Amino acid sequence: MTGFLAVLAFVLGASLGSVMNCVAWRMARKESVLHSRSRCVRCGHELKALDLVPIVSWLLLRGKCRYCGEKISPRYVITEVLLGAVFTIAFLRLGLSWAALRAMGLCCALLGLSLVELDTQDVPDPFLVFGILWWLVFVFLMPEGVRDGMLSGMFAAIGIGGGMLAITLAYEKVTKKESIKGGDLKLLFVVSLFLGPLVGLMNLILAAILGLVFVYVMRSQKIPFAPPISIATVFCLLFGTAMVDWYAGFFR
Ligand SMILES: [Zn+2]
Repeated sequence: MTGFLAVLAFVLGASLGSVMNCVAWRMARKESVLHSRSRCVRCGHELKALDLVPIVSWLLLRGKCRYCGEKISPRYVITEVLLGAVFTIAFLRLGLSWAALRAMGLCCALLGLSLVELDTQDVPDPFLVFGILWWLVFVFLMPEGVRDGMLSGMFAAIGIGGGMLAITLAYEKVTKKESIKGGDLKLLFVVSLFLGPLVGLMNLILAAILGLVFVYVMRSQKIPFAPPISIATVFCLLFGTAMVDWYAGFFR
């Protein structure tokens, strides 16, 4: 049964990964996210259901458009596999629970906004608003209770998001250089709601290390910080509590 559900989680993740790719692509180009069928980016041919099966279509068509033969960016299939894997791990770690569903929903939003930021250098607000609403819904469903969940989330978000905002403003005042963008700070605020203060702080450290790697690899002026923050958050959502316990073990 567990094996079957794990496979189901993978299929669900890969499918939602495909949807998020489509949403992000349209959002980055300021197109309507709803309406209109999916089309090939190059020849504009309308895609049929068979062309849109996550991962499978890409493999069967060997990464090319069926109609014009143009190569399809591997970004789609890579992110579909990644979200499928994340969903499977979420299910295996958190079981059939509200916590698993909560993590899966946030991971979808993180994938979508990371893809848009890579294309446009902007973190789109709709994903952040979705994140806040998603957190709010699950405050009422999580085992720790409404009061504790609300307090720990708000405390983390205001402390970490606000703290980073203050540091950024001071840094920009002193150096007269632009550093982390407002959208990325808003993202830190939203993910900290989900993680609470302890894991949220660990997430900040992990995101900063990954961010430095991104700065080093991309060597550009405009660094997208949403992907490193998102990767760190996914890790912390799935392994955060275990990491904090392991760390606390040193002091016992
Ligand atoms: Zn085509």
